[in-house]
Amino acid sequence: MNGVFAKRRQHLLALKAMRDGQSSHLARSAPCPRCGETVPRRELVQARHVCPKCGYHYPIGAYHRLSLLLDAGSFRELDERLTSRDPFHFPGYAGKLDESRARTGLSEAVVTAVGAVEGRKTAVGVLDSRFFMGSMSAAVGEKVTRLIEYAGKNKLPLILFSASGGARMQEGILSLMQMAKTAAALERFSRKGGFYISVLTDPTTGGVTASFASLGDITLAEPGALVGFAGPRVIQQTIGQTLPEGFQRAEYLEEHGFVDAVVPRAQMRETLARLLKLHGKGEKP
Ligand SMILES: [Zn+2]
Repeated sequence: MNGVFAKRRQHLLALKAMRDGQSSHLARSAPCPRCGETVPRRELVQARHVCPKCGYHYPIGAYHRLSLLLDAGSFRELDERLTSRDPFHFPGYAGKLDESRARTGLSEAVVTAVGAVEGRKTAVGVLDSRFFMGSMSAAVGEKVTRLIEYAGKNKLPLILFSASGGARMQEGILSLMQMAKTAAALERFSRKGGFYISVLTDPTTGGVTASFASLGDITLAEPGALVGFAGPRVIQQTIGQTLPEGFQRAEYLEEHGFVDAVVPRAQMRETLARLLKLHGKGEKP
């Protein structure tokens, strides 16, 4: 019976991952934004959406990311129906939420799940930049907090993939409050011996950088990912100085100790599995 459920779950994730690909710029062969080379779609899919010419890591959808990470049939989504309302009746917000849901098939900018990474049971959350730039709504903060608490209660390691434009301005103070809420949940998780790996993907900015994305026991990043609080233009205008080459990119942050390792997408799964193993986390069933 378990085998039937596992097969169904695998099928569901594969379908959702496929939909991720169709609702993004990856649906057509388009020139690579970094090197300008047009790579055939099939080649790009085989390379996990990394440009084979220059190594540019295309943003990918949350389900797609989970399908690359988790063992076949192990995926189980949590709080799938938890979504944002429009608490302040912000003009145009409700309509935009509907449009984003229809276009992406997501209910919010984060997907949270439990699954296995090379046999190690893990709680995983993935932000998706196609949905309001992966911005932190009250629902995103709530889903991330519930995931952290789920990991704590079930003694699972936690992995969060961030990709975010920051706070969701349409939800004002309720959005900003999620920074404190998620950070406090991580503190409680950590005190109970929880193990958390934060993975920064392009772009991770604003309130997400200033909260859970920066609080990992280990922080990894995808090559070339832009990571920061304010964007480079804002900083440049504020301090009136030219910023160094590669400022706020993953490699620069690794050199300066903010990121532990820059890990290409092709090696992400095995790297995460190795870290879980080294730290004795995610007991094999
Ligand atoms: Zn390229």
